[in-house]
Amino acid sequence: MRIQRLNTSAAELHEIDQNYSRYNQKHNIFIRLFWDEEIKRLEHARQKNAEQYSKDNKPGYSKFDKAFLAGTMNFMREKIVQNIHICDQEFNAWNGEKGTKEEGMDIFTLTKAIKKAAKMYGACAVGIAPLDRRWVYSHWYDLQTRQSYPIQFSDEAPEYNRIQEPTLLENKVRVIPASMKTAIVMLFEMDPGCLKYSPTLLPYANGRFVYSEMCLTTNSLAGLIRELGYNAIPSVNCTALNIPLAIDAGLGQIGRNGKLINPYLGTRIRIAKVITDLPLDCDQPIDFGVNEFCEACRKCARKCPAGAIPSDSKVCSGMDELSNDGYLRWAIDHKKCFCYWSECGTNCNICITVCSYNRGYKWTKSILNSSKESSTLVDNLLDSLDDCGPDVFDPEASFWLNS
Ligand code: SF4
Ligand code: SF4
Repeated sequence: MRIQRLNTSAAELHEIDQNYSRYNQKHNIFIRLFWDEEIKRLEHARQKNAEQYSKDNKPGYSKFDKAFLAGTMNFMREKIVQNIHICDQEFNAWNGEKGTKEEGMDIFTLTKAIKKAAKMYGACAVGIAPLDRRWVYSHWYDLQTRQSYPIQFSDEAPEYNRIQEPTLLENKVRVIPASMKTAIVMLFEMDPGCLKYSPTLLPYANGRFVYSEMCLTTNSLAGLIRELGYNAIPSVNCTALNIPLAIDAGLGQIGRNGKLINPYLGTRIRIAKVITDLPLDCDQPIDFGVNEFCEACRKCARKCPAGAIPSDSKVCSGMDELSNDGYLRWAIDHKKCFCYWSECGTNCNICITVCSYNRGYKWTKSILNSSKESSTLVDNLLDSLDDCGPDVFDPEASFWLNS
C-alpha cells in the first residue's frame, strides 16, 4: 500500500467522542510513581529484580550492561524524570531569552528550515501539526506539592487575555497563549541491535540515552525559535499527548501495540515536540494500511508476555483509570504491562521489538493479501521472521562482542 495523505485529523480518525475530556497527567503510570502505592511497590520490585539479575550475571543484565545503563543516565541522572515527564524544568523550560521578532517570513521557506534544523539537532523525522487542544493535558503534575494543577489557554478566561507568554500563575495554573497553535513533532530512532536483546537492560539503556538526546534537541529547537522572537514550549512526555500530535503531523499511525508506527522506522521510535506560535505550514495525517495490517497481524499480542495487548477489535474505553475514554483504539492494559516490567527489571520493549513494521511498510501489502488465504500461515510466517525479536535472542551471542 502507498502512503496516502488524508484531509482529516487524529481526532476524526479515532472517532473522538463529544464527551471526551482532556487527559489529566496525574493518571500517567510514570506520574503514579509519585503517589500510587501499588505502582510504587511494583517499581521497587522492578529495581530489586534488576539488581538481583545483575548479581546473578544474567545475560543482558551483566555488570557491564548495568554500567552501560549508568553511562546513559550520567547526563540526566535523576533529572530524566523531571525533564521528560514534568513541564517547565531545566531542559524543558517554558521561557527563555528572546530575540527581536522578524515579521513577514515566508512560511514555506521557514517550515523547511525549521524541519532541517530539528534534524541537525538530532531528530530522525519531523512533522508539523496544528495544536488540537484536546491532546494537551488538562492538568500538569507538580513534584514539589505532589498535586496536579490545570493547564489552560489564554482565551479560556477573561483574566488570562493579556497573557502573551507561557505563564505559571501564583495559584499554579499554567496558561498557554492562544497564539501557540502549532506543534513541531519529532521522531527519534531506537537502536535495532539493542532492541534485539529485549527485555534486558540493553534496550532499556538505549531508550534512556535517546531520552537524553530528545531533551537536547527540543531544548535547542526552542532556543532557535525564541531567538526568532517567538514562544516555544519544549516537551518530551510532559504538557501534551505525543501520539495524536504525531498522527496530526503526518508521522504515522497508531498500531495494535498502542505505539506510533512510522512507515520507515516502524515502531522503533520515541516522540517529542515543541509547541509554538511561529507561523509554520502544517502537514496532514497519513494512511499506509496500519489498521488493516494490525487487524490481521496481532504478532505483538501473541508475543506480549503480560497479555497486555488485545487480540480483538478496537474499543472506545480504556482498560482502567490509567487511560482516557472516548476515542477508538486497541486498548492496552497498562497495569498488566507494568507488572511485567516489575518482573523483568526494565521497561520490556518486546512489543516494539517484534513489530512487523520494523522492516518498513513496503512489504506489508503482499502479507496482507496472503492473510486472506490462511491466517495460521501468516501468523507462522510473521513469527518466524528474524525481526530482532526476543525469540532470536541468543544469550551466548554477546551484544558487546558482535560488531
Ligand atoms: S512493553 Fe512488554 S509487557 Fe508491556 S505491552 Fe509491550 S510487550 Fe507487553
Ligand atoms: S506487531 Fe503487528 S499487530 Fe502489532 S503493532 Fe506491529 S504490525 Fe500491528
